[in-house]
Amino acid sequence: MLAPDIKNKILDFIKQRLDKEQFKTWFTQIEFVETAENDIQVPLPNVYYRDWYEKNYKNLIISALKQVLDREYKIYFLVASPGNKNQTDLFGLPVPMNTGTQTGLPDGLTPAVGPGQSEPLKGPKQIRPVINLRGQLNPHYTFDRFVVGACNRLAHAATLAVAENPSKAYNPLFIHGAVGLGKTHLLQAACWTALEKNPRLKLYYLSCENFVNDYISAVKRGACEEFRNKYRSADILAIDDIHFLGVGEKIGSQEEFFHTFNALHNAQKQIILSSDSPPQEIPTLTDRLVSRFKWGMVVRLDPPTFELRMAILKQKAELKRVSVPDDTLNFIATLIDSNIRELEGGMNKVIASASLLGRPINLALAQEALKDTGGTRTSPISVNNIQEVVSNYFNIKIAEMQSKKRVKSVSFPRQVGIYLARTLTDRSLEEIGAAFGGKDHTTVMYSVEKIKHRLHRDKEFQSTVNLLISDLKK
Ligand code: ADP
Ligand code: MG
Repeated sequence: MLAPDIKNKILDFIKQRLDKEQFKTWFTQIEFVETAENDIQVPLPNVYYRDWYEKNYKNLIISALKQVLDREYKIYFLVASPGNKNQTDLFGLPVPMNTGTQTGLPDGLTPAVGPGQSEPLKGPKQIRPVINLRGQLNPHYTFDRFVVGACNRLAHAATLAVAENPSKAYNPLFIHGAVGLGKTHLLQAACWTALEKNPRLKLYYLSCENFVNDYISAVKRGACEEFRNKYRSADILAIDDIHFLGVGEKIGSQEEFFHTFNALHNAQKQIILSSDSPPQEIPTLTDRLVSRFKWGMVVRLDPPTFELRMAILKQKAELKRVSVPDDTLNFIATLIDSNIRELEGGMNKVIASASLLGRPINLALAQEALKDTGGTRTSPISVNNIQEVVSNYFNIKIAEMQSKKRVKSVSFPRQVGIYLARTLTDRSLEEIGAAFGGKDHTTVMYSVEKIKHRLHRDKEFQSTVNLLISDLKK
C-alpha cells in the first residue's frame, strides 16, 4: 500500500482533472499497491471495473504517479479473486453474485490482463457497475432512489414493469418530460433492474448523441455492418434524449435507427427511449418513427408537486446524513419548483454553505445561501418590490405599511415586509427602517425576531412566507 500522504497527493492530482461526481464514484475507495519497483497494482472488484479504469483512467493514474513520485510506473488493474461472498463494491454496496461461469463482458471491451492473470476471470459474475460501450450507468440512478408522486407515478410504474419484464410489458417504452424531471434516472433504473434480474442481458444504454456519433464513425470507417450487428443484437436498447436523433447531415443516423428499431421490435427485444417532448412534437422526426414510438407506451413526467419536492429533499438529506429542519426544506421546495436537478442543487448549496461557514443548517442559512437562486428574476429584489408583494397579499395599502398604524392588520404585514427586506436585500437596519416610514433600527430588529419566532412554530405561516419569497423571485 502506498503511504497515505503519497496516496493523497496522487488523489489530489486526479481530483483536479475530473468532475466531482466522477471522482467520487471512481476514486474514493481506490487502493494503490506497490508490488515491484516500478509496478503498481490496483485491486478492483470485477472485470467491468477493470475495463472501465483501463479505458478511462489508466493514463491519468500514470501521470499522477509520475507527478508525485517522479517515476514511470506500470499500472495493473487486478480483479479480486472471485467467490468472496462478503465482497462489497466501490460504493460500499454488496456485489450481487450469480452462478454463471462467464465474465459477461459487454462486447467491444477486451479484457486487460495483468500479471498473475493469464485469462479473463472465470467464476461468479458481479454486475455492478455495468459499462456498455460509451454508456455508463450511474450507481445512484436506481428505483429505490426514485421518489414517486402524482406527477411521475405512471412513468415510474411503466418503467418498472418494463424493467421487470423486458419485451413483455410495453415496447417501446417512451418517457418524455422537461429537463431535470428524472428521465435519465428512470432509464438507468430500468437498466439496473433488468440487469439485476438477468446479468447476462446484452444491454446497451447510451445517449442519443453517442449513438449518432458511433454511427458517423462507423460510416467513416466503412464499418456499417459491424455497427448494425452490434445494436441489432441487443436484448435491451435504451437511448436517452432521442430528440437529438440525426438531423441535416446526420439524417443517415435516423434512417439507421429506424432499421435498428424494426429489427429489435420484430425480434421482441426491448426498446426504451427518453425525450424532451412526446413523439409527435419532435420536429426532426420522420412520420414513420413518430408512429413507431407510439406503438408501445408513451408516458410523461410532469413537474414535481410541492409534496414530491419535499419528499425528494427529505430523501436527499437522509442519504447525506444531515438533518435539515422542516421549515428549511419547505423554503427550498417552495423556491425551486420546476426542476428536480435544480432542487438538488439548491439543497447541496445549503449543505455546502453550512459546512463552509461552520453553521447549523437552518432557515436563515438557506435564505442566505439561496439568495440568488430560484425564479427567473434578473434584477435584485428591492424593498419596494417587497412592499408591493406583501401589501398585495395582505390586502392593505403600501402607505399603510409605511404609516405609524399599530392595528394588527397593518403591523403584522409590516413586520413581514421588514423581515423579507432584511433577508432578501442588502439594506441596512436603518435603511429598512426608513423605507417603512421612519422606524428606528430597534423596531426593525424586533420585527425580524418576531417573524423568525413565528416561522419557527407555525407551519402554515412558513408556507405563506415561502410563497411570498418565490413570488418575489419571479
Ligand atoms: P432528466 O434526464 O429528465 O433531465 P435526470 O434524470 O437527470 O433528469 O434527473 C435530474 C436529477 O434529479 C437527478 O439527480 C435525479 O437523480 C434526480 N431526480 C429526478 N427525479 C427524481 C425522483 N423522482 N426522485 C429522486 N430523485 C430524482
Ligand atoms: Mg437526462
